Amino acid sequence: MKKLSIALLISIIIAIISGCGGGGGGINTSPTPPPTPSGYTITVSLSNNTVQEGEEVYVEARVSPDPPSGSVITWSQEPASPAGSFNPPSGFQTTWTAPKVSSPTTFTLKASLSVGGAIYFGVASITVQPQQAPPQNPPTISLDYPTSEQVVGTGTLLTILGSISQGSNPLKELQVLDSDNSLLQKWTITQPGDFRIDLSNFGSKGEKSLKIRIVDSINLYSETQIQVINDDNLLEDKAREFLRKYSCYGDGGTVRLGNLQTGPYARPVRVYINTVQQWKDLIQKACSFWTQYTGIQFELVVSDVAEHPFIAIADYTNEDKYCLAETFRCYQQDPHDIDGVIRLYKGWKDNCTLEAQIVVLAHEIGHALLTGQEVTDPPYPNVMWPYADASCNILPPIMQKATRLLYEWPPGTKP
Ligand SMILES: [Zn+2]
Repeated sequence: MKKLSIALLISIIIAIISGCGGGGGGINTSPTPPPTPSGYTITVSLSNNTVQEGEEVYVEARVSPDPPSGSVITWSQEPASPAGSFNPPSGFQTTWTAPKVSSPTTFTLKASLSVGGAIYFGVASITVQPQQAPPQNPPTISLDYPTSEQVVGTGTLLTILGSISQGSNPLKELQVLDSDNSLLQKWTITQPGDFRIDLSNFGSKGEKSLKIRIVDSINLYSETQIQVINDDNLLEDKAREFLRKYSCYGDGGTVRLGNLQTGPYARPVRVYINTVQQWKDLIQKACSFWTQYTGIQFELVVSDVAEHPFIAIADYTNEDKYCLAETFRCYQQDPHDIDGVIRLYKGWKDNCTLEAQIVVLAHEIGHALLTGQEVTDPPYPNVMWPYADASCNILPPIMQKATRLLYEWPPGTKP
């Protein structure tokens, strides 16, 4: 249509010139035709050729020659997925927001122009980078106990104390791994701060390092190590050594609460609490300390008639003594058997936290069960430490084994 009307116009112009006259007749005029667009070139330019996912880029289309007024550019991307977004979706200028990608991905941004039934395109490429994952910090762990090599063995518990802090992610669990990285035990721990675990599985025999590992929700971890010797024979040797030092009578035989027929292991240890019933819960917790570490069971009894062997706990909290509590070992007919009478003094009632009250009770029960002495070997902390306080609520493996041996042996056995 257009070509036709231009040709018509040209012929009209030629006709007018011809009609002027006076010109150089016979000159063959050959007029230059105006441009005849055979199409449109669309150039797409971007403010940036590489962007991070989620970033915006400015996009502009230039059309040459100028398209008829009212022409519209519409936008699309290839591949279509993952989809970014054009805002506005049409027009010579727009912005494109890059979609999320899992790896660097190149897209073609395409401008489309429809003129007179024909569609013209212009394109530009843009590469979208995935966001760099923010740096991840693992959780951290520090140990308070044990700080020295521990001899452990079958049937013992190794208490491990420490603290953990959270890294970039929530905490998941605490693991103990053997020297060959096999998992020995694990505990769910989701709160940072102090922790206390009792390890009962020591894995392979021998002298080695165990790893104490704190793991977060995406399995980042930190770890620290403790040294152990997992050796039942060595443990028994050390336990005998302990009993020679701390629980021997004049003839070298061990001293303990009651005997095997009536005492620990055969039946619960009777603990008389007539005058201290208001502290029954604390006493129960102190007894549980020994049950946990040695298996010895306890029975709290309110009765005026005490049956041997027994532990009796008495209220002396009206007496202000130099110590918080005291245990008297009362020898039975067999000089290797004792009863234990524990007196609680004013300081125990008035000057201790609940935790310290429990540890002091456990300490005094230990004077009846295990030794009349204060124990400095194994070193601090242990429940029989002189003037034991809340931080001494630990029974090291050697003392656990010594307690067990004491109640497995016939009365008076020499260690
Ligand atoms: Zn003591």
